[in-house]
Amino acid sequence: MVHHPIGLVIRNVSKKYANGVQALQNISLNIPPGMYGLLGPNGAGKSTLMRTLATLQEPDEGQIFLGDIDVVKQKDPVRRTLGYLPQEFGVYPRSTAEELLDYFAILKGITNRAERKEVTAALLLQTNLWDKRKQRLGGFSGGMRQRFGVAVALLGNPGLLIVDEPTAGLDPGERLRFLNLLSEVGETSVVILSTHIVADVAEICSNMAIISKGEILLEGKPADAVNMLQGRIWQKLTDKDSLPVLEQEYPVVSSRLLGGKGKVNVYSLSRPGSGFEVVQPDLEDVYFSTLKGFYDMDIYHQKTKQIVP
Ligand code: ADP
Repeated sequence: MVHHPIGLVIRNVSKKYANGVQALQNISLNIPPGMYGLLGPNGAGKSTLMRTLATLQEPDEGQIFLGDIDVVKQKDPVRRTLGYLPQEFGVYPRSTAEELLDYFAILKGITNRAERKEVTAALLLQTNLWDKRKQRLGGFSGGMRQRFGVAVALLGNPGLLIVDEPTAGLDPGERLRFLNLLSEVGETSVVILSTHIVADVAEICSNMAIISKGEILLEGKPADAVNMLQGRIWQKLTDKDSLPVLEQEYPVVSSRLLGGKGKVNVYSLSRPGSGFEVVQPDLEDVYFSTLKGFYDMDIYHQKTKQIVP
């Protein structure tokens, strides 16, 4: 049987919590198969959206379709094809990786012992934990634990994998291994990576959205979004004391201090002043320009409204 990856369509989804916080405001997204980055600062509404996609909570309004499955109304079929790695992934510290994965495989309905052995071995190999399979999870590093979480989430071959803020706290080597693993999964499934780390999205996501205060500010391919900024990011090297003045005068995208020297990136259609040089934009420039509202990328906005599955 050929496995056809299917997309996820989110239409006009809103959610207000009982305490009055409007966590999601009329969100529409079209998420194709592959790696999708949902990028936004803390409190933007990412986890709320991830939990909603994972059928753990319901939106007040709006519709979500995974292929032709109605995610809000048909929770069981979604759950059968869903892998979800939450922000906080609790494990039983005294179990070994092999034991616990076997246990979760039973819960997933893989009752045949031989089949289970094959599936869990393949996942331990894929997540690079085969050599550690006899070790107790209590002794695992953060990165090993996250990869174990992916192994659990991948049981049953999900068509949709949701990963919430996975790289926070990982060292650079662990982070790379983890992102490579997700990329590999993204070759055959929809993978949604929710994160506040721009580099995670820049490195592995073929499509992305930027979310802030419950609203989608930008949607598109990272490379296209970066291209839109060509010629619009100007950099000036300055001394530390001039930074606050520059921030008053110009639309400052970001500023950095390096050994007592300051470096500012400014958004401008033409040279903003003396001492500025145009620089090659990157996704971080896109992120901050978008959050600060420096440009209206209306071609990326809410393209999904008319899509009816
Ligand atoms: P993110 O994952 O981007 O940090 P969240 O979805 O966790 O954002 O939160 C979005 C907003 O909703 C925040 O203001 C947060 O305080 C609020 N919020 C999240 N969960 C709840 C909840 N269960 N009850 C009330 N408010 C919540």
